Amino acid sequence: MRATVLYGAGDVRIENVPDARLIEPTDALVTVSRACICGSDLWPYKLMKPGEPPRRMGHEAIGVVEAVGSGVHTLKVGDVVVMPFAYSDGTCAFCHEGLHTSCVHGGFFGTVELPGAQAEALRIPLADGTLFVLPVGADEALMASLLTLSDVMGTGHHAARAAKVGRGRTAAVIGDGAVGLCAVIAARRLGAEQIIMMGHHPDRIALAKEFGATDVVKERGEEAVARVRELTGGFGVHSVLECVGTDEAMRAAIGIARPGGAVGRVGVPHYETIPASETLFYNNLTVSGGPAPVRAYIGELLPDVLEGRIEPGRVFDRVIGLDGVPDGYRAMDERDAIKVMVRP
Ligand SMILES: [Zn+2]
Repeated sequence: MRATVLYGAGDVRIENVPDARLIEPTDALVTVSRACICGSDLWPYKLMKPGEPPRRMGHEAIGVVEAVGSGVHTLKVGDVVVMPFAYSDGTCAFCHEGLHTSCVHGGFFGTVELPGAQAEALRIPLADGTLFVLPVGADEALMASLLTLSDVMGTGHHAARAAKVGRGRTAAVIGDGAVGLCAVIAARRLGAEQIIMMGHHPDRIALAKEFGATDVVKERGEEAVARVRELTGGFGVHSVLECVGTDEAMRAAIGIARPGGAVGRVGVPHYETIPASETLFYNNLTVSGGPAPVRAYIGELLPDVLEGRIEPGRVFDRVIGLDGVPDGYRAMDERDAIKVMVRP
């Protein structure tokens, strides 16, 4: 079968690899009908060091169950499933608490340890706990939005939860990638009254407004902080949804949070320590967040997707086949595309 392999910074290839197959009794084998390229895939794409082992990329997919192991009880051949970016048993203490990304038996797709979803097929460990069966006959037109339940919509929702977004509160979203745009949807869905989008790409800003952003701040750094304060009566926002992961983004997040407010961070951190700790302290700010337990959120978000109340699938602005994947990485890296869908 064909799959995406990252060999080094900027070096992503489509190769013939051994067919995915069942290994453990709790595995399922899934044929990928849709996958995508994630903003987080761009970190190794940009920064992979010489000597690091190759990685089979991809951690978001919708597919069809082709085979199940003898220990799989809730899935059957032919089920249409969505796959969260992490696998989990669904039964341990953390899964019961809704924190599937900390599952004691879990792990992540698209790593050196476990091949990823930008491929014709993949093996799903702990399939009963990991996969979510979609209602049969889900409309073709909904597939893009359903695919975002693998990661970006659940991750945007996690940012909103971690930032304590609530009815009548003010929020700001840092990052105008697919996660940031989904964070706008999530903030509106949870009742935020004012949603400030921090970004400056015209196409992304336009989409953010359609998703519910009420204000846009195009400035960066100190100027951005000042502008957000202006828009919020001088106080800053209750909730900051930090969807980038750089020191600069975190600094801005802390700078625009209102005293007593919260920062929900879902951008993979590329800083050693959280900056601006004095501001954090004196303003009584909360910093929360981490890898989103998207498996826990699918049940909550799915009805809104199925009934068209949210349309996170609009973040996809390019659809390619597997052959187009290397160019898809380039396009997302150069911010030429917001998010690329792959139809193997
Ligand atoms: Zn677990």
